[in-house]
Amino acid sequence: MLIVQKYGGTSLGDSARIRAAARRGAELLQQGHKVVIVVSAQGDTTDEMIEKAAQINKHRAAREMDAYLAAGEQMSAALMAMALGALGCGAVSLTGWQAGIATDGVHGNARIQSIDTERIRRELEAGKVVVVAGFQGCDPDGDITTLGRGGSDTTAVALAAYLKADKCQIFTDVDGVYDRDPRIFPEAVRYDRIGYEKMLALIENGAQVLHDRSVEFAKQYRISVEVLSAFAGTPGTIVGDLE
Ligand code: ASP
Ligand code: MG
Repeated sequence: MLIVQKYGGTSLGDSARIRAAARRGAELLQQGHKVVIVVSAQGDTTDEMIEKAAQINKHRAAREMDAYLAAGEQMSAALMAMALGALGCGAVSLTGWQAGIATDGVHGNARIQSIDTERIRRELEAGKVVVVAGFQGCDPDGDITTLGRGGSDTTAVALAAYLKADKCQIFTDVDGVYDRDPRIFPEAVRYDRIGYEKMLALIENGAQVLHDRSVEFAKQYRISVEVLSAFAGTPGTIVGDLE
């Protein structure tokens, strides 16, 4: 199987968590699967970077902001590749542009236009786990773009679509999709499965578990996406075609 896994900031919050995620990827490779791991920036890195940039210039150029913020995901990607290496597992980290992700030129909220998967396929064929920095791409001018807050989800689903992956898993700090935020409402109900439209409606109402464009991608390419806990080890919610 070709499996795309994405890890959010909390799931990569410290070195132990990065190692735990790497172990999961290494095990899958050992079982004979091809594995792509998409990573977010660690913990609150992106928020801290935004604050820091504001101290430097409140009216900074969007282009420079993208060049800066994309580095958060790049750091995670390299650390993840190092963690895989420590397990004796072949791995390579790629930025969004190295991974062939082409976007439009809307800095701070770019849309993925296409993905040239040649490099990723070559690394997979060489037996490596491919770690891709989420949330970023390259515009027609060759400039770095970012996909909007939470955009690493969209990187993962888009890669799953272009690579025709058998599985797309989004690892996060909750164990699935709920009808309300389970961190605020203890009576929230978890879905085993949820359709694209209903998922998009939840996001519209403020649910932050998935980036809206990731669900639009999933719907367009009929990809099933599993949202699951990086810590619990239990099955998550399948976002998919329920019609
Ligand atoms: N690091 C970015 C953010 O905090 C992208 C992501 O996590 O998906 O919004
Ligand atoms: Mg997120």
